[in-house]
Amino acid sequence: MIGLVILGATGSIGQSTLKVVDENPGKFQIIGLSAHSRVSELATLCEKYNPRYVCISDETQESSLKAQLIEKGLSEIEIWSGENALCDLARLPEADKVMSALVGAVGMSPTLAAIHAGKTVLLANKEAIVLAGSLMINAAKKYNATIIPVDSEHNAVFQCLYSESENNNISKGVTGIILTASGGPFRHTAIQDLQYITPEQACNHPNWSMGRKISVDSATMMNKGLEVIEARWLFNIQPENIEVLIHPQSIVHSMVRYEDSSVLAQMGIPDMRTPIAHAMAWPDRIPSGVEKLDLTAAPTLEFEKVDTQRFPCLSLAFTALEIGGNASARLNAANEVAVDAFLQKKISYLDIARYNREIVENSDSSIVSDLDAIIAADKIARIQTQEIINRGKR
Ligand code: NAD
Ligand code: MG
Repeated sequence: MIGLVILGATGSIGQSTLKVVDENPGKFQIIGLSAHSRVSELATLCEKYNPRYVCISDETQESSLKAQLIEKGLSEIEIWSGENALCDLARLPEADKVMSALVGAVGMSPTLAAIHAGKTVLLANKEAIVLAGSLMINAAKKYNATIIPVDSEHNAVFQCLYSESENNNISKGVTGIILTASGGPFRHTAIQDLQYITPEQACNHPNWSMGRKISVDSATMMNKGLEVIEARWLFNIQPENIEVLIHPQSIVHSMVRYEDSSVLAQMGIPDMRTPIAHAMAWPDRIPSGVEKLDLTAAPTLEFEKVDTQRFPCLSLAFTALEIGGNASARLNAANEVAVDAFLQKKISYLDIARYNREIVENSDSSIVSDLDAIIAADKIARIQTQEIINRGKR
């Protein structure tokens, strides 16, 4: 059995991961699960999967979790709490694979901990690699860890690439990658109406069902921007060789271009269980529970260029890569703070791009070589974004 730890078990990716586990009885053993504050949900998961360890990152909830586990007769499960405990969970010796499915920069240290422990890391938490891309890739080489992308686009690229090239290196005639984007719910909204968009509208994605933060990111296309940065590091590819196309059907999940003008694509129903199952089983294949793709049911596949006036956040990612230094970390931090403020109805939809731009354009291009510098850049950018938000409210 494959020992599996899931960081962020109560989230959208965490739950889909557990569905794939259910689909493959006897294949995976759940070693550890984490949640932030949803105690009852975590306790219910413990009842079903009987992990050896659980982590509740909000320390104030530890006693409540303990009480619920005792009530369910699960007192042998070891309970940990706090952010450091997430790192301990990620490096458990019994774990072969670690699903990194926390949302936001909080996932960076636990993901790095799994890499340092030489695990196979199933990477959904894109913010972690946006922040610490080169550190993560170098650490994976040093500690013999394997990073398998779960994000559907990167998983698609990985599927197109890995038979062609070793170690995810851009070699053997790869000339570029094409990331596809659905265009989200506001692809056709009149530009003058974008200012009125509410969190409920932004979270209502046409093709994918996801957590709230990534749903807003998909609406602004900051998600695709973060994915451009993610691709730059995962596949060691220069930004000028990364294209983004809008593909409203979300059937082609991404593509790779080769020197001879071949283009390889990976297709499927838009359901995260497919890339999750691929990542969980790689280099094998297992059932995901996702229905078979019927290309005759939706025979039209459209591709169009991105309107960067409508989606300025995408260009900001290229700006961040061009600046280098701490720019990607600052962009990510600004975006996390801005999206949170938008979800709380403190700022408007258009403010997200405005504040992200202000923060990224004031970045420092000197090389960021250690984790402390990244953490500091993240922290300062959060404070600065909050200041801009407060200034805007006055
Ligand atoms: P989600 O909000 O549904 O779940 C997030 C998980 O992280 C939950 O288990 C939550 O308890 C935990 N968490 C939240 N804040 C925390 C904190 N401060 N400390 C510790 N744990 C915390 O998010 P999601 O949609 O599952 O996304 C997870 C990651 O996967 C994100 O980075 C997202 O960009 C990426 N991703 C998601 C999808 C998708 O379809 N949902 C697709 C591709 C990539
Ligand atoms: Mg994606």
